Amino acid sequence: MNKQTKTISILGATGSVGQSTLDLVRRNAGNFRVVALTAYSKVQELAADARAFGAELAVIGDVRLLPALKEALEGSGIEAAAGPSGLIEAAGRDADIVMAAIVGAAGLEPTLAAVRRGATVALANKECLVCAGDLMMHEVQIHGATLLPVDSEHNAIFQVFEFEEQKAVERIILTASGGPFRSAGIDTLRSVTPAQAVAHPNWDMGAKISVDSATMMNKGLEMIEAYHLFPVRRDQIDVLVHPQSVIHSMVEYVDGSTLAQLGSPDMRTPIAYCLAWPGRMAAPVKRLRLEEIGQLSFEAPDLERFQCLALAMAALKEGGAAPAVLNAANEVAVEAFLNQRLAFLNIGAVVQETLAACDMKAPQSLQSVMAIDGEARRVARAFADRLADKC
Ligand code: NDP
Ligand code: MG
Repeated sequence: MNKQTKTISILGATGSVGQSTLDLVRRNAGNFRVVALTAYSKVQELAADARAFGAELAVIGDVRLLPALKEALEGSGIEAAAGPSGLIEAAGRDADIVMAAIVGAAGLEPTLAAVRRGATVALANKECLVCAGDLMMHEVQIHGATLLPVDSEHNAIFQVFEFEEQKAVERIILTASGGPFRSAGIDTLRSVTPAQAVAHPNWDMGAKISVDSATMMNKGLEMIEAYHLFPVRRDQIDVLVHPQSVIHSMVEYVDGSTLAQLGSPDMRTPIAYCLAWPGRMAAPVKRLRLEEIGQLSFEAPDLERFQCLALAMAALKEGGAAPAVLNAANEVAVEAFLNQRLAFLNIGAVVQETLAACDMKAPQSLQSVMAIDGEARRVARAFADRLADKC
């Protein structure tokens, strides 16, 4: 094996981030060796990638699909596993880098398993920091793991944050595209369909995060994510709407300097940064030609039309169980919206009512995070069912 070769496991390999990661691995085949790949339902795609990349282990989240996975891998010598324990096994396998790209709180336990073996974890799965940020960061510290932010805003901040001069940081500014409904009136928002909501103007992403971008919940989740990833206070995290998605985020210092990272909106840049860290590697992304873009624009977020962002800001301020409840309720509401059982504007309504109904005591363990998550989902489902009639 080449001395430079890094071993990598990808949790959520069939998703948008997972596929972008595999694209970079394919283009730099001599520099990476794939250990484990996981998916939830796309069994044929998983098996095909496991064969193409010569993985040791392929894991399917849905246990009912294990026979199909075994059949698809027959004769390849690739191990097959399934279910939560299989996902944890994939994360726990010895690999230099684990790409944590499962969507939702379902990624929490596998990501923790990678952290607990002191791995370098490229973290895309923001929901696990939102629902269990304190716990996760504590585990990172005690196990000597390294977290590299994949989310483009946090990756941008990571690139320009002077950790040795952290007292000189005044604030971090997360940029937001504003999503497909940035300037839509409330009447338009009332009748938004799933197809319209997932059609993001700048980024090509999975369905859940696309809806989160459309409600701007995504930016709220990212504020909570930033709070855990960087040594800043809650009141040092701001959001700025920047429709072109060229500036991926900024750090402002006490001397008046503001440092930013810019690039085309393509996740392969932040992913490449994580895969090559602490070095850099080539990524086949469109080069930024500012003369073609001409103008960059900025505006303050509208917290009235984008209730989800306001709710996430309040949850960040409140702390305790609020971020976990917010996240769980949002996952339930987004799923109901995607299944056409809930109106777009009722995503915020479900999250708000769930936050008002749930106990907000801070979780002290993984078990209490899971209990809060489960209870919030139960409450949110009941609210979503009630509102479904009015859809
Ligand atoms: P996708 O929906 O495209 O992919 C999700 C992946 O997770 C798939 O491999 C899916 O498997 C798997 N998965 C889904 N549910 C489960 C489950 N219950 N248990 C185990 N695996 C599961 O999502 P994205 O790639 O868009 O996003 C992944 C994460 O990265 C999210 O947390 C998102 O917020 C974050 N992120 C994404 C960005 C993007 O550009 N897409 C940008 C920044 C952050 P299957 O395909 O078989 O269903
Ligand atoms: Mg982002």
